[in-house]
Amino acid sequence: MAQPADLGLVCVSHRRHRYDVLDRQPTCYALLMVFDPSRDIEAVCHALERVYGNPSHGNKSDPLDELVYIILSTRTRDASYRRRYDELKAAFPSWDAVSPRDQARIEAILQPGGLAMLKAAVIVEILNVLRDRFGSTTLEPLRCMPDADVEQLLVSLPGVSTKVAKCVMMYSMDRQVLPVDVHVHRVAARLGFSVKRRPDTSQELIEGAVPRQLRYGFHINAVAHGRAVCLSRAPRCEMCCISQWCDYLQTRKDRECSQTATGVQ
Ligand code: SF4
Repeated sequence: MAQPADLGLVCVSHRRHRYDVLDRQPTCYALLMVFDPSRDIEAVCHALERVYGNPSHGNKSDPLDELVYIILSTRTRDASYRRRYDELKAAFPSWDAVSPRDQARIEAILQPGGLAMLKAAVIVEILNVLRDRFGSTTLEPLRCMPDADVEQLLVSLPGVSTKVAKCVMMYSMDRQVLPVDVHVHRVAARLGFSVKRRPDTSQELIEGAVPRQLRYGFHINAVAHGRAVCLSRAPRCEMCCISQWCDYLQTRKDRECSQTATGVQ
């Protein structure tokens, strides 16, 4: 006969080891799944997709537009960086028209979003590097390169991290990569993925655990979930569509259950 562990079922209060207590402690009767990425990631992706429906985060189809858009998004609120991007494009419809003399003007446009001086300098520097390398401000030549070469070239640009490079690759070049930002990292960590402390150091671990064909959906829906429900300080677990797989929630219930059992408030 199949045992609870074979089915991936565990006791909320004593999960992973103590199935025998199920008979003795009525408060522990609820059974939940322990998240196993290789088994459950597809179901998690479908649950997220049903709720969020692969929403647009305003990303761009042109790789250089997308690179600038992602740079503007750094440590800036959603609505603000979208507005800054629109204003920047209105001022400079063609990136070829931007010269180093325009840095102060770009900085002024970006001022309300924060980190304006840094972002303006990075953008001007990137455009200069592309001009030197390709003869114009474009990332189009990357479209015919393999993933590894594209990523290597992008991270060689000033101020471009692996996460930024993977965003450009995923959103504007249809590459099956998975950028790990704070939202993806938080949702993955709480579900029970094997992660490290920070998104950048968890990049390979999380990306490697998600099949290539699921990466795009997992990223965009996890970002939506992290913004709306799986909040950093106070996650809204009661309205979460993937709570049945969540290790964080189960651990919290464990704690509450053992506190109740020992009379701790
Ligand atoms: S149950 Fe709570 S902590 Fe877990 S993924 Fe959902 S919102 Fe986040």
